[in-house]
Amino acid sequence: MTTYGNARIQMEKATKLMGLSEEAFDEVLKPENVERVSFKVNMDNGSDQTFEGVRVQHHSGRGPTKGGIRFHPQVDVDEVMALATWMTWKCAVVNIPFGGGKGGVTVNPKLLSKGELERVSKGFMTAIAPVVGPDRDIPAPDVGTTAEIMAWMLDAYNAAVGGNHPGVITGKPIERGGSYGRDDATARGGFYVLNYLAKSLNLLPGASIAIQGFGNAGQHFAELCANAGYKVVAVSDTSGGIYNPKGLDVEKLLKIKQETRMIVDYEDAQKVTNEELLELEVDVLAPAALENQITRDNADKVKAKIVLELANGPTTPEADEILFKKGTVVLPDILANAGGVTVSYFEWVQNQRNERWPLERIHEQLEEKMHKAAQAVYDMGVKHKTHLRTAALMVALERVLAAGRK
Ligand code: NAD
Repeated sequence: MTTYGNARIQMEKATKLMGLSEEAFDEVLKPENVERVSFKVNMDNGSDQTFEGVRVQHHSGRGPTKGGIRFHPQVDVDEVMALATWMTWKCAVVNIPFGGGKGGVTVNPKLLSKGELERVSKGFMTAIAPVVGPDRDIPAPDVGTTAEIMAWMLDAYNAAVGGNHPGVITGKPIERGGSYGRDDATARGGFYVLNYLAKSLNLLPGASIAIQGFGNAGQHFAELCANAGYKVVAVSDTSGGIYNPKGLDVEKLLKIKQETRMIVDYEDAQKVTNEELLELEVDVLAPAALENQITRDNADKVKAKIVLELANGPTTPEADEILFKKGTVVLPDILANAGGVTVSYFEWVQNQRNERWPLERIHEQLEEKMHKAAQAVYDMGVKHKTHLRTAALMVALERVLAAGRK
């Protein structure tokens, strides 16, 4: 099953419970625009290389479309369409006035020099400039892209259309119009949801946590959890995973990651594979890497009581059913990782109004948004006796359908 196929199946469950017709379902699922681009970049060795990219705008009924840009060798249109669709539901779950968009370039950024990375970033933004804009479609970082890349893309957009338009892209460096609190927003949003629902989910202080993926989302989540007294016992990245049931020293781990980029260099822990990490005896498992990690092949072996999806689409629909039957609570991506887009929205509002909000205000407003969203999703789940993914989709769909297509 493709990632977009998975997004469709998830929706089917929600639309059935809502009694939505087949036509209405097809209508709300189809993207408004799929912009495929190819662009040439001059490489360090003097040759020209052509790169393929795509920007998908799924649904703008609730406002401009919004979503990150991914640089990864496996990026394809199907994946980006799924990610754009999820962005629509995510923005609706946290009730911000945006629709869903997403973009990607099929490239391994680790194989590029800094100069090449800058030229690829600018080349892509120049190619999609005609279809994005502060009131139309607003990109942000995702896997493989950073604040620095957002600044390059802003430069490319400004050069393409003239003037200065910081609101065209979020996740920028502070000095280029970025917002305080955007760096850890995704992790913080998930952390607020976990804390808010902790009582309802019987999660005790000091609960153990395993995190798959140790990039932006995974690292900040580990730090927030450790500081709050949770026990982070396992983490992994593409180099593999580490596990110590007594807990890992997250501060030390972050330092190692910064110095060597390889968490397997951490010594006081046993090595585990990424597959083994997913099956550890922990209270909370937080996938924070890529899609399709918990599938029908391993869902039965997941021992965590709670799966908190910091990544987009880490659990397939078949795995969802298995986990639900086992009593594992999945806090779905469109709720659990919505903190990123929420603070991106705050950044965009600040840019549009030429304001700068203090960090405390960002945290307060983020917490309020995440609590309201978590409560709405939880209540919907209880009302319909369904799992929280379907509940979250129902909350989102109600809001998206009420807005209609533009
Ligand atoms: P990132 O590039 O900063 O980090 C990704 C991490 O995953 C890296 O540590 C990488 O080594 C690791 N990884 C990749 N493949 C892996 C595998 N098979 N097993 C274990 N680790 C693997 O990306 P990020 O921004 O942290 O995003 C991670 C996930 O969170 C993605 O699904 C992304 O869509 C989602 N997300 C991110 C944001 C955000 O604001 N950054 C917002 C919402 C959702």
